[in-house]
Amino acid sequence: MNASFRAYPRYQALATAQQRRIPKLPKQKNFPDSSKNTVSESFGCDAFNYTQMAKMLPASDVQFLKQYPFTGKNISLEMANRVALAVKQWAVEKGATHYTHWFQPQTESTAEKHDSFLDFNEEGTPIENFNGNLLICQEPDASSFPSGGRRTTFEARGYTLWDASSFMFLSNTKNGKTLTIPSLFISYYGESLDNKTPLLRSIRALNSEATNALKLLGEPTSHVTVNCGPEQEFFVIDSALYGLRPDLQLAGKTVVGAASKRGQQLDDHYFGTMNSRVISMIMEVESELVKLGVPIKTRHNEVAPSQYEMAPIFESANLAADHNRLLMAVLKKVSKKHNLTVLFHEKPFDGLNGNGKHLNWSIATSEGVNLLSPGKNPQNNIRFLYFLTATLKAVHDHGDLLRASVAVPGNDFRMGANEAPPAIMSVFLGDTLSEVVNSLTSGTTTTQDPSYSNIKDSDIINLNLAKIPVINKDNTDRNRTSPFAFTGNKFEFRALGGSQSISTPITYLNTCVANALESMNKQLEALSENGSCSQSAILSVIARNLVHSKNIHFDGDSYSEEWTKEAETRGLPHHKTTPEALEVLTQPDTLKLFKKFGVMSHGEELSARYTVSMERYVMLRLIELETAHELLMTHVYPAATQYVYQLSRALSKTLKFMDSKEALEAQRKHHALCASLTNDLAEKMATLEQSIQKAQSLGHGKEAGNYIASEAIKTLDEARKTSDALENLIDDALWSLPRYREILFVN
Ligand code: ADP
Ligand code: MG
Repeated sequence: MNASFRAYPRYQALATAQQRRIPKLPKQKNFPDSSKNTVSESFGCDAFNYTQMAKMLPASDVQFLKQYPFTGKNISLEMANRVALAVKQWAVEKGATHYTHWFQPQTESTAEKHDSFLDFNEEGTPIENFNGNLLICQEPDASSFPSGGRRTTFEARGYTLWDASSFMFLSNTKNGKTLTIPSLFISYYGESLDNKTPLLRSIRALNSEATNALKLLGEPTSHVTVNCGPEQEFFVIDSALYGLRPDLQLAGKTVVGAASKRGQQLDDHYFGTMNSRVISMIMEVESELVKLGVPIKTRHNEVAPSQYEMAPIFESANLAADHNRLLMAVLKKVSKKHNLTVLFHEKPFDGLNGNGKHLNWSIATSEGVNLLSPGKNPQNNIRFLYFLTATLKAVHDHGDLLRASVAVPGNDFRMGANEAPPAIMSVFLGDTLSEVVNSLTSGTTTTQDPSYSNIKDSDIINLNLAKIPVINKDNTDRNRTSPFAFTGNKFEFRALGGSQSISTPITYLNTCVANALESMNKQLEALSENGSCSQSAILSVIARNLVHSKNIHFDGDSYSEEWTKEAETRGLPHHKTTPEALEVLTQPDTLKLFKKFGVMSHGEELSARYTVSMERYVMLRLIELETAHELLMTHVYPAATQYVYQLSRALSKTLKFMDSKEALEAQRKHHALCASLTNDLAEKMATLEQSIQKAQSLGHGKEAGNYIASEAIKTLDEARKTSDALENLIDDALWSLPRYREILFVN
């Protein structure tokens, strides 16, 4: 092959991708742990979980740690020393040489700094050392993490603190193991600098309000847990082709690329038979995850070609947040071994579905009773309706905050694009539940009759409360267009971006529901007599708040234009871009809310979060714009001019040898079209460059964000249109960037 032509690297990469063999895994990899025979036996063998703790620690310590997520009580140094000693022994026996605090800064990824167990005792003898102090706190050189200006250099100390609500685990590489300690990241002054600290605080806030509610409902419980099961979508493509796409590497998405003639229109990928290279890679991922104690359960093809989904069995929110990050990290790591690359970006390919993350969310008592599950008797159903109503009220009162929780830059390309819910927060309830809600709220207007004293206990049966069936999932889950859908015994928050940490959406949701519960609890207390509440009082509070939240209830097609219009008449917020959506974080009411529940107690914690998110938006968009400009300049434009040149040479030769006027005319037309598109591209590249310069001059804040979202992005869209048109015309041998059809169908 002549290596001098432009498409040479691309053809090479295609040949490489087509000839890949599936790497054979060492035999013991059939099961995660060679000494164990089944997945269940090897589950969690590399995690320092309660089973492991029970073997090595006093029962009282294990009990304390189990309660820790809800109490947040200080862990004594004596206890930390016992845990440190036990975990060191366990980890070193399993071959660990190092330990690291592993945390989630506001970069939507994880961070770590490793230290060896190696130390010397007083006699100078080398030993493996680890103790409670080292377990509790490690100070990384943390001045370079985004903090929204929270730390000036002289106080640039960030502390990572052991998160005792999660499990330590062993990170494996071919050459060694590291004890990994899930941690929180806070500043010298105790402000949260990460996504996990607010999450834990929000779990406690919701626990407290939900426990109060249950007391008022006459069903006390010791604590309430938040359970989450995130469904993760991603693309898997061949690494050789990925290697030739700087846009995928730098921006996580393609910034140019003509649509493949075959895309997802045949609906043949969803739940199709999985590609053998991909399934083999995913099997290795699962085997690693099982060892780490991640309860990975489901895998299947998604809608777009080369798109997949994996989902775990739900678990408590703090663990689910860590485990989703682990799933993503292990996918990234293992795919490399298979010469595959995983893409989590919300919109890697234009015109195809992007990657979302459905967050399944519910709350349960310490006895494991799901509070969002309708029960068999009226009392259970009243309890169910109380918590359902609180969730509706949360979405109603704080829709814009929930929208902000999914405001990551990539999501702007996905939301409202007929594949993902729009940026309007509404709730889907399904026929059965809608009927119940309607019967509870019909003819009642809260303002006129806030106490609902007309509802008597005997009316409960009339209200059909005894008859709320255990709601069949098939009945509730038909509407895939709603951003927030009730699916039988949980809510599914479907607006999350594929790349984002689930910590923030859970944090905001928990806080909003805690607030709704607090308000409902107060209303209920006011109606209670001697601390006890009658069913009619409870029902009146439920009805009152259902009416209050009515306008976010929508069971129709959320993708439709009619809904956008209707939502506007209902006065629901609709923030299409990240900069718009983030605005709510600057509102005094938002700060008040987070302060009230201690989720962000220092005033600056929230404003810092706004600053960090806006900066990330501006910087990521600039990377996209600049990468696009470079690709157009160095790949597309040279190919276009070369092709136009070739065409004109061919044309002049044809002039000599051909006398068919029609043939010449066709060639002339083609030449003229390509020449004009090439000129067009040059102009649009110049406009793109100007918009980049302007954006760069505006700093990293709101002004830059708004300019990019409303103006700069359009200049890229325009340039891209021309580039994609040229891609469809130019001689294939001149085209250097792997095409959509190749990236999506060759593996
Ligand atoms: P889908 O049909 O939307 O793919 P699945 O039945 O596969 O839904 O479940 C998706 C996720 O929801 C899984 O992670 C599952 O464990 C989780 N899930 C199921 N029940 C609950 C619950 N009560 N609370 C939280 N998550 C749950
Ligand atoms: Mg699923």
